[in-house]
Amino acid sequence: MDPRSLLRCLPAIDRLLASPALQELVAEIPAVLLTEAARETVEALRQRLLGALPGGDMELDIDAIAREAASLARKKTAPSFTPVINATGVVLHTNLGRAPMAAEALEAIALTASGYTNLELNLATGKRGERFSHIEELLCRLTGAEAAMVVNNNAGAVLLALTALAKGREAVVSRGELVEIGGSFRIPEVMAAGGVKLHEVGATNRTHLKDYRQAIGEDTALLLKVHPSNYRILGFCESVPACDLVALGRETGLPVMEDLGSGMLMDLTSFGLPREPTVREAVKAGIDVISFSGDKLLGGPQAGIIVGRSQQITRIKRHPMARALRIDKLSLAALEATLRLYLDEKKAVERIPTLRMLAVSETELGRRSRALARRIRALSTALEVKLIPSTSQVGGGALPVFDLPGPALRIAAEGLSAQHLAERLRCQRPALMGRIQDDHLLLDLRTVKKTQEAQLLQALSCALGAGATL
Ligand SMILES: *Cc1c(COP(=O)(O)O)cnc(C)c1O
Repeated sequence: MDPRSLLRCLPAIDRLLASPALQELVAEIPAVLLTEAARETVEALRQRLLGALPGGDMELDIDAIAREAASLARKKTAPSFTPVINATGVVLHTNLGRAPMAAEALEAIALTASGYTNLELNLATGKRGERFSHIEELLCRLTGAEAAMVVNNNAGAVLLALTALAKGREAVVSRGELVEIGGSFRIPEVMAAGGVKLHEVGATNRTHLKDYRQAIGEDTALLLKVHPSNYRILGFCESVPACDLVALGRETGLPVMEDLGSGMLMDLTSFGLPREPTVREAVKAGIDVISFSGDKLLGGPQAGIIVGRSQQITRIKRHPMARALRIDKLSLAALEATLRLYLDEKKAVERIPTLRMLAVSETELGRRSRALARRIRALSTALEVKLIPSTSQVGGGALPVFDLPGPALRIAAEGLSAQHLAERLRCQRPALMGRIQDDHLLLDLRTVKKTQEAQLLQALSCALGAGATL
């Protein structure tokens, strides 16, 4: 039939809603969304008919239209948040939610979320308790600090500590440490937001102790050190070691703060990772206030942890902004459970996914990759799989110039570009994310759980199937 003459035959919304395909969804999907989906489907069809060439031939099938409306209604109600199988090999992938949590942390979240807890109640006295009481002693034990507190994230921790310790006055920072972290967190801007005047010293590549000394004046409130998390200055460079800055702080009566960024609680060099100062070492060097993230190398929930001397931590806890940045009970519960695992470092590496993924051996990854390659080949002759030497990354702005050696699976699908294949894999549920390198799709099993392998195969198989119908 001529497309334009079909306009008269477009089904009424009521009739569409009464069709079996949409009636089936009545119990599941709110009526307003079903109606909206039916309207939008008919409207899209009307536009298509209006745009079609006269004299063409088209037909209207009400069941097919109803099925299209049903599929649109399902899309409208599908959750936006969906699991992703991370085969990028980037362990702390910020866009994929950074650190996955340990089972112990998940259990703590479930327990806390499903009922009431002693969040701010001292059960021994029956009186009001402190939110931080659940983690302060643990953090002090793990880092050697005198006192500790936690806020929503490390960006908040830095903002709060700067405001509480130096608002309206100056903080001295090296020009080599004026860091920008992803998501527009820049040290100079955070300082401005906290009402702290930035006094930059030294040069980009070299800052000496005398530079800090010369900058100290009436208005100085704080000496600040920032971990250059996501970049490295190599070659002719020098920065002032923490202990020297601490000595200068003591001499001049100024507190010294360090934003450690990732903040490792244990030394990971035995797993082949480069040496990074641990939080304990920063405490031992005498830094007064140290801040770090909960969901970077620590492998816990999003949180901003602040440890240090009681005098300074008390000032920070009492600042009104602390209330605005406070950590929620679920993250706090997950953090406590994660920190408890660190009391036994062997257990921490076994139980905390981030540490486990960093520590897994190349041999083990090779074995898993070869076995999975065989299963991928068995899926379809349209898939070509090759095991190649590659590297994974720590991510999350931690250890930027360090790569973890390990194998990757290089996948090619007949008649599909790497970009197309990657796109189809992202559209599966769960979504599968690999990385593209030299026009090939790579899957890195370091960041894929063993229990996700079946879903990974399913995603590949469905992605090929999607090709057949297009
Ligand atoms: C990541 C990072 C931050 C921000 O921490 P969040 O937990 O993401 O808020 C601040 N400072 C440094 C040096 C960092 O590496």
